[in-house]
Amino acid sequence: MLKHSCGYTAPIHCKNCGRPLIYHEKNGLYCPYCGRHVNMICPGCGKPW
Ligand SMILES: [Zn+2]
Ligand SMILES: [Zn+2]
Repeated sequence: MLKHSCGYTAPIHCKNCGRPLIYHEKNGLYCPYCGRHVNMICPGCGKPW
């Protein structure tokens, strides 16, 4: 589960390999398995994740 700064939590998975994404302070959302970086808008607050 990922938790956004607004408190919204969601299970977000990589579209390539289906594994859970992680959040890194410098790199943002990314998949530690295939290295894919993900830019997405938080469904809870509408701001970039
Ligand atoms: Zn992946
Ligand atoms: Zn949010």
